[in-house]
Amino acid sequence: SHLRFGPDPIKSPYLIDKANFVACHQSSFLDRYEMLSVAEPNGIFLLNSIHSKDEVWNYLPISVQKQIIEKNLRFYVIDAYKIANEIGLGGRINTIMQTCFFALSNVLPKDEAIKEIKKFTEKTYGRKGEKILKMNFEAIDKTLDNLHQVIVPKGVTSNFDLKTSMPEGAPPFVKNAIAKMIIGKGDELPVSAFPSDGTYPTGTTKWEKRNISLEVPVWSPETCIQCGKCVFICPHAVIRAKVYTRDVLKNAPSSFRYTEAKFSQFKDYLYTVQASPEDCTGCKLCHEVCPAKNKQDPKLKAVNMVFKDTILDREKDNWKFFDSIPYLDKDQINGTTVKDIQLLQPLFEFSGACAGCGETPYVKLLTQLFGDRAVMGNATGCSSIYGGNLPTTPYTTNKEGRGPTWSNSLFEDTAEFGLGMRIALDKQYEYALDLIDRLAEDLGKELVFELKNADQKTETGINKQREMVKLLKAKLKGIQKPEAKDLLSLSDSLVKKSVWIIGGDGWAYDIGYGGLDHVLAQGKNVNILVLDTEVYSNTGGQKSKATPIGAIAKFAMGGKASPKKDLAMMAMNYGNVYVARVALGANNAHTIKAFLEAESFEGTSIIIAYSHCTQHGYDMVRGPDQQKAAVMSGYWPLVRYDPRLYDQGKNPFQLDSSKPSIPLQDYIYNETRFKVLTRSNPEVAKKLLEYAQKEVNKRWELYKYWSEMPGPKQEEK
Ligand code: SF4
Ligand code: SF4
Ligand code: SF4
Repeated sequence: SHLRFGPDPIKSPYLIDKANFVACHQSSFLDRYEMLSVAEPNGIFLLNSIHSKDEVWNYLPISVQKQIIEKNLRFYVIDAYKIANEIGLGGRINTIMQTCFFALSNVLPKDEAIKEIKKFTEKTYGRKGEKILKMNFEAIDKTLDNLHQVIVPKGVTSNFDLKTSMPEGAPPFVKNAIAKMIIGKGDELPVSAFPSDGTYPTGTTKWEKRNISLEVPVWSPETCIQCGKCVFICPHAVIRAKVYTRDVLKNAPSSFRYTEAKFSQFKDYLYTVQASPEDCTGCKLCHEVCPAKNKQDPKLKAVNMVFKDTILDREKDNWKFFDSIPYLDKDQINGTTVKDIQLLQPLFEFSGACAGCGETPYVKLLTQLFGDRAVMGNATGCSSIYGGNLPTTPYTTNKEGRGPTWSNSLFEDTAEFGLGMRIALDKQYEYALDLIDRLAEDLGKELVFELKNADQKTETGINKQREMVKLLKAKLKGIQKPEAKDLLSLSDSLVKKSVWIIGGDGWAYDIGYGGLDHVLAQGKNVNILVLDTEVYSNTGGQKSKATPIGAIAKFAMGGKASPKKDLAMMAMNYGNVYVARVALGANNAHTIKAFLEAESFEGTSIIIAYSHCTQHGYDMVRGPDQQKAAVMSGYWPLVRYDPRLYDQGKNPFQLDSSKPSIPLQDYIYNETRFKVLTRSNPEVAKKLLEYAQKEVNKRWELYKYWSEMPGPKQEEK
């Protein structure tokens, strides 16, 4: 961030290139960005570091040491993470770093500055409760005791410098262009640095190595029950599981951990869970959801967070080796449990979503299940930002070079955009079949029959069709007819594609709802995934029609007074749409089942996915617990509506979660978005809670009634 201070209004809408004060809040950025090049002589440099004032100098790159000396900078250090942790603020260091700024910068006399910070803190956090306010006051007081000036040596002593290159093996475009953009020097790139056809490489987040976490997970094979839950929840596809044969181990580093695989279909295989330490965001969700406790020390689980600096080199080697182990082919994994699915390669990895994001595990799951043939239209919002955030791209490809086709469109037209993708694919398929007929004599009866009658309901069927298409392409190259040329360019459309329309609640419930409804009404084979955070997350927390009663959000600061729209119920009204409401943190298996059913349904499907979000106001490590509480309170009933069941004489509506077992308040008051109102306006909060509880009860009764209705055949009897 760039910030100017002065007694008069400042009208300088451009970045600062001469700074009197430079602060680095994340020490791993120091060896990647030249942040002191803008520092003015005799200015101040503040660093948040785990190293003490006596040690920190030894951890600075050469160019940083050089600039501190040459510019005669006053250098200060603080371990803000330690203070935040001790106080209970977790990773939130903003109050601490802000206090340092005012204490050092002299923009206000120090005492006056501290008084003002406390006043402002009260204004910001007062309504969030006594506990949060106290923690922030404590943070301010502790800051001054822990802020130290470093005695700067006379000469440069470091033996390492800024990391200018990308990791070994990075492709030339990543090394020459993306690397420059990552360090903030994209402006220096000539147009010729970019591919002339406008394409931009995918799968590039893996080269970025953001190194933003202090702690990373380390796996204990002896405690692990191989459930796959840690892999399933990881929002960043950082921790993964693989099974492989013993011979793979011959080049393994000695520190590489493994155990016998406990999978009925993989007898004599080995199993490893491994995290990429440089891509981990330190959200701790993997540790949180791990169900396996160490018998000797119940505080430990089968995956534990360990201070990164002590194990970084070892874990980098382990990850490098793990990454080289091939994934099994999809048709080798025939189970549909979490344990099985987590052996599939994610084709969405290391995105820049917030640490602990509740949306990204769904996107990752989609790519594990269908990514090699997915065509995705993504609405603007968080998912378009972390999905296509330059300079790096998280969507990637498998070893055959197949991965999701992805594009972003506007809030107001993404459903139609995705429908257009489906229609285009159908047209291509239709035309390809027509060309096959016209070239039947050249292609031969057998190949024509196989291509036209392929059963692509299973992975095996899809793979068989891919082989047929390979044969087709080879034959077409030898046929000198214009139709052959056309068919060659269309032949990939003969393999089944999976069209997904994705976005948040701001898109699906509000701005894009007209288009969404239009698509629901068409009955075309598209899948819609609504990542429901119940608020406009990316734009800073404005209410949407998905915002629940009693939650505060921008434009609903007095608590939302009307109920959340029941999008699932509206979609079910059509009768021919597959509908599911899922919460991955509450029921992994239900989520997987819904994704598989939705995709296999030869019509329109919609999945509404509960997504915990930083906008809800609690530590994201509790996201899965909150998802469970949402389901247990009856606020978020898990449902599936499958029109195919009607044809089988069954009730298409299935209520998959149990009767509410906790009151609504036990769910909502764990979140600041609801809790705030109990302080700012307890009377209104009470009324809205009563109203919300009534709505939950009413809806539950209705859902129960529907789920108990007989299927059509029984009715006839
Ligand atoms: S700490 Fe978070 S980002 Fe890191 S591996 Fe665990 S779940 Fe993934
Ligand atoms: S969640 Fe725990 S027990 Fe399950 S696979 Fe991961 S480490 Fe093993
Ligand atoms: S704002 Fe919410 S939905 Fe968006 S990336 Fe962050 S946690 Fe995920």
